[in-house]
Amino acid sequence: MKALISWTIRNIPRKYLQRVSHVFLRMAAVFYRGKEVQCNICLRSFRRFLPYGRQARENALCPNCLGLERHRLMWLFLKKNTGFFEKQLKVLHVAPELCFLNRFKKLPNLEYITGDLESPLAQVKMDIHQIPFPDNSFDVVFCNHVLEHVADDLQACREINRVLKPDGWGILQSPVYNLEQTLEDPEIKEPAEREKVFGQSDHVRKYGKDYASRLSKSGLKVTENAFVKTLHQDRIKKHALPENEMIFFCQKG
Ligand SMILES: [Zn+2]
Repeated sequence: MKALISWTIRNIPRKYLQRVSHVFLRMAAVFYRGKEVQCNICLRSFRRFLPYGRQARENALCPNCLGLERHRLMWLFLKKNTGFFEKQLKVLHVAPELCFLNRFKKLPNLEYITGDLESPLAQVKMDIHQIPFPDNSFDVVFCNHVLEHVADDLQACREINRVLKPDGWGILQSPVYNLEQTLEDPEIKEPAEREKVFGQSDHVRKYGKDYASRLSKSGLKVTENAFVKTLHQDRIKKHALPENEMIFFCQKG
């Protein structure tokens, strides 16, 4: 099962995966029936979550909503640390994750706009280097697992900063490695070489511990929030949350 999932993720583009995967996952949900873990996004319980990732991680993917560890953590952060589910907010969600998309769309308190360059899930076709909205448009911007793909991540952050309202905030998650400094080399263009150096064929950099300070150069105020450390171990286990993931919370600078 693990090998099959790793192969599928490596070889089938994610946009197709997202369209067909639900059939396979519905079947998996039956085999994973149980009470040991619970997805705090869709509230369904399972024996465990499915393995997921290029080097497949055990107990990661919710077979019902497709949420991963990081999504469940962000959902909980939004619930506990923000007024996201209650306040009247205008939201821009860049490269919207499927597990969030349908749920956020239904929240009556949100004016919810999704944008992406390629994703068929998004409403607005947009390049994050040039966000097609006026200054001070949004209360909230989400942009997860995007910045490691884009040519100029600081320009993208300047754009996010620009479109945020003065008291606006956002969450900007990216894979962050145990490196002192972000590794970047625009000369590396070959997919195979990118995979070797940056960990994935469509990544153009590998972020290190300087992630928050690097993004702050755009003008955004970026803080690292060790939210998961504030949670009880039982809850971390129950929802299979990522114990080392920081939440990168940003505010307009
Ligand atoms: Zn779920």
